[in-house]
Amino acid sequence: MIDFPKAREKMVEEQIIARGIKDPRVIAAMRKVPRHLFVEEALQGQAYNDHPLPIGEKQTISQPYMVALMTEALQLTGKERVLEIGTGSGYQTAILAEIAQEVYSIERIRSLALKARRLLYELGYYHVEIKVFDGTVGWPEKSPFDAILVTAGAPEIPPPLYDQLGLGGRLVIPVGDAYSQDLIRVIKTKEGQKREDLGGCRFVKLIGRYGWMENGTINQ
Ligand code: SAM
Repeated sequence: MIDFPKAREKMVEEQIIARGIKDPRVIAAMRKVPRHLFVEEALQGQAYNDHPLPIGEKQTISQPYMVALMTEALQLTGKERVLEIGTGSGYQTAILAEIAQEVYSIERIRSLALKARRLLYELGYYHVEIKVFDGTVGWPEKSPFDAILVTAGAPEIPPPLYDQLGLGGRLVIPVGDAYSQDLIRVIKTKEGQKREDLGGCRFVKLIGRYGWMENGTINQ
């Protein structure tokens, strides 16, 4: 029998705190959310390891450190309305839901969205709404957002996502080619866009109107 709480605590100490994540809200969320429930049973023993894992449909649940880094980059205080693009397993959604007041998440693959929605409901995250759609167009009816997180790699920043940020809002998104990207934070200010590069990363492709086409070319 695997001791999941113990494995989770070890993950937080060795992969999250030791690597410089400082936001107490992010650390508390990583301590609480049962990551092993977001992967299939055969992979649960690896759920707290330092790498991504397959979740079906050729998609992945991101490495724990990357989830923590991206969440910290959103600078959440607890009152925010957050949009996530790429629900996947729903693990990152749960981390956001531990901290933010309202979480909206869009996933283009129906089977993943339905599975994540069921699990998040079972875990009591009633302030999360998930829809099956192309997230590169955002969710205009629910905008403006205080923070937007994209968990797939984009060729460039989808304009609708920047448009749907409120003033002071943060957009965190991997931008680059199909094989490697930089994690970019864009802050919407009165003076315009403030853009920062938070370092290299590697994500599956953001596929959609303002992302990649399925065949790997840019969809614009
Ligand atoms: N955050 C997820 C988790 O914790 O399991 C991992 C996300 S996975 C790295 C990226 C996800 O983005 C995939 O599930 C993929 O289907 C989804 N995706 C790609 N393009 C999308 C789009 N245009 N709109 C919504 N979801 C998209």
